[in-house]
Amino acid sequence: MTRQSLLDALQRLPYVELGAYPTPLHRLPNYEKKLNYKGVFIKRDDLTGLGPGGNKARSLEYIIGDALAKGCDTLITAGTVQSNLCTLLACACARYNLHCVLVHNNDAPVQSTGNLLLNNLLNTESIFFGNITKYERNDSMQAVAEKLAAQGRKPYIVHNGATSGLGALGYVRAALEIEHQCRQLQLPVYTIFVPGGNGGVATGLIYGNALLGHPFRIVVISTEYEKARLEQHIQTVIAQIEEALHIPFSHGLADSCEVIDDYYGGGWGQPTPQSEEAVLDFPRTEGIFLDRIYMSKLWAGMQDMIKRGKTKGCVCLLHTGGFGSLFGKLD
Ligand SMILES: *Cc1c(COP(=O)(O)O)cnc(C)c1O
Repeated sequence: MTRQSLLDALQRLPYVELGAYPTPLHRLPNYEKKLNYKGVFIKRDDLTGLGPGGNKARSLEYIIGDALAKGCDTLITAGTVQSNLCTLLACACARYNLHCVLVHNNDAPVQSTGNLLLNNLLNTESIFFGNITKYERNDSMQAVAEKLAAQGRKPYIVHNGATSGLGALGYVRAALEIEHQCRQLQLPVYTIFVPGGNGGVATGLIYGNALLGHPFRIVVISTEYEKARLEQHIQTVIAQIEEALHIPFSHGLADSCEVIDDYYGGGWGQPTPQSEEAVLDFPRTEGIFLDRIYMSKLWAGMQDMIKRGKTKGCVCLLHTGGFGSLFGKLD
């Protein structure tokens, strides 16, 4: 598999560019000193350039492309009021003149904060279903879509936090970008640390990296689930990518990444003492903010592995953003 044939396969699919690429990749000089470790880098996908930035810009490029190719005019997704996906979808819809409906499993807050405040600045329709489960939320989203269809709209549902084969393709593309960027800038990055929520970001990178011949070691720090469950998610998304690109992965997962579940604490949105410390220490050391849900756990894990001598060569933190949620309460 060559770089070009992977690019060709990606180029055959509907795609819209939502970010400004390549995002910067640079050293963290103060942490290099603090940790006495040569070669600590950061890939700034917090600066993808759409709305408050973050990984969801890349994930939505193939999803919006698919929706437009199918002639849809209304995008629907679900999340908590501080969902990064909801805000990024609202921004993407603004860019492509699509109607955006956001379904929240919260009560309507008395005062909007964080991402919800941003959503209110955009032209979105926010529906609050109160404290319902993820499953009930999906049913509600389906009902909303059916109602819109009955009104003559052509709705498109973005399922599962955009963690799907199409969403992950954004990170297959990002693997190509990072490999090219490291070669061009002669940055000797060896290990990339990525957050693992539902595993879409991680899977895209793992797949792209494997097809490029494993230029990087990929370490996935789970922010939500135990290892077996996250690996199962990754396997599912690999199969979806294979279906979209018609290129088999043909590697064992264990040969292509390491999934670490020592740092997720109580699960999604449940900070650990180390992740809370990272929320303060990282901006105070490098002037870059980390969110409470994903990045702070990723950095807590990455830093701990560096300190314990569990890393090899130059290491790189993939910053997936989440800036907007810092201005809101965690729920
Ligand atoms: C959604 C999100 C992730 C996790 O992505 P998955 O594909 O679900 O693993 C990581 N970081 C941020 C900031 C996110 O918004």
